[in-house]
Amino acid sequence: MALIVQKYGGTSVANPDRIANVANRVVRGWRDGNKMVVVLSAMAGETDRLINLAKELSEDPDARELDVLLATGEQVTVSLFSMFLRSQGVPATSLLSHQARIYTDRAYGRARIIGIDTARIKEELKKGRIVTVAGFQGVDEVGNITTLGRGGSDTTAVAIAAALKADLCEIYTDVDGIYTTDPRVYPKARKLDRISYDEMLELASMGAKVLEIRSVGFARRYSVPLVVRSSFSGEPGTLVTVEDEAMEIVPVSGVALSRNDARVTITRVPDRPGVALHLFQPVADANIVVDMIIQNTSIDGHTDLTFTVPKGDLKKTLEIVKPVAADIGAERVLSEENIAKVSIVGVGMKNNAGVAARMFEAMAAENINILMISTSEIKISCVIEDRHGELAVRVLHDAFGLDIPPPKKRGTSF
Ligand code: ADP
Ligand code: ASP
Ligand code: MG
Repeated sequence: MALIVQKYGGTSVANPDRIANVANRVVRGWRDGNKMVVVLSAMAGETDRLINLAKELSEDPDARELDVLLATGEQVTVSLFSMFLRSQGVPATSLLSHQARIYTDRAYGRARIIGIDTARIKEELKKGRIVTVAGFQGVDEVGNITTLGRGGSDTTAVAIAAALKADLCEIYTDVDGIYTTDPRVYPKARKLDRISYDEMLELASMGAKVLEIRSVGFARRYSVPLVVRSSFSGEPGTLVTVEDEAMEIVPVSGVALSRNDARVTITRVPDRPGVALHLFQPVADANIVVDMIIQNTSIDGHTDLTFTVPKGDLKKTLEIVKPVAADIGAERVLSEENIAKVSIVGVGMKNNAGVAARMFEAMAAENINILMISTSEIKISCVIEDRHGELAVRVLHDAFGLDIPPPKKRGTSF
């Protein structure tokens, strides 16, 4: 008997038939004697629908009220799901975030889970019930409803699995595992049997939305055994785990594409100590995550500074940065939204020289102009024009031969 947390995404609960299909899958696990906790997303398209509804009444919806609204999406699916199970004679209880006691900070729309009191979930499990928890939502210390950010149900599931010390956390979605790149962008993408937490963390942060980034962080920190699989098939899926002997020996494991970033350039910034702090401190204080930063070589005491932020934060960033730029005597603040970020990720990159050169060569051969570059130990990202995004994914996937299964490690390799 195991304690299993399963999460079903929007497409898996998109209509009553699919909810029933998912419920039957859960019941099979429960009849086998497992304790089942099920985290659900809102029906596919529902969160977008609610955001658009809000925008019909307010150009810039109040963050607190927007979270109250968005949390209803998941309330619908958990209640329907438990209702169906009860109608089948299966004991089930749905829990919203205050009932499941998922506590967050008060950063509406991007709240962080700071703790889960599992007493109520455990109590329900003890009674032999299937527990269904609304994903994506939490409560702050005084009971305000918060949401975790888009795709946040993954994080709800992994955090609950960590708090309950579950034997397994399964993320059910509309693809049958984690691929070398988004199979919708490049059909030659290959499904991986296993991937390391570190690689998945980079892929997720670089735009592979198959897992939300914070969920991978939780899984790594608390060693949650995590599997991504399809709710529409019986395929075994992909295991996200610590890097081990059985993993593939390749310099690059995956390619990710993000269209979520915007670029800000501040021209002729006076080149003196403290300027970067002046510009970036208020941006950080506003909870805006700056990704890449490039500062050109100084010419006659001035330099250009370019950085990227999430598109959704561009307006706010410009509001913050424009007065500061004027204050420090910079020339102009420019912005550009038609950019994409393509990244290659692989733990094998650490021991392989020439990976970056191969990446640039492949892009140059297709005349793809690179606007910005950033690297980490296991990742290289390039900002390019948006129109080249999907082509770049295909070209890099081919250049590193990701469609071909590599040899597995045998014995001890160094
Ligand atoms: P859910 O609603 O179930 O949370 P998402 O749409 O958030 O599903 O995530 C699944 C999608 O992630 C897939 O449909 C696929 O298009 C996309 N995706 C991006 N990168 C990858 C990848 N490397 N492997 C698999 N899927 C990926
Ligand atoms: N319903 C939320 C969203 O669409 C959360 C999730 O699906 O994970 O982003
Ligand atoms: Mg998702």
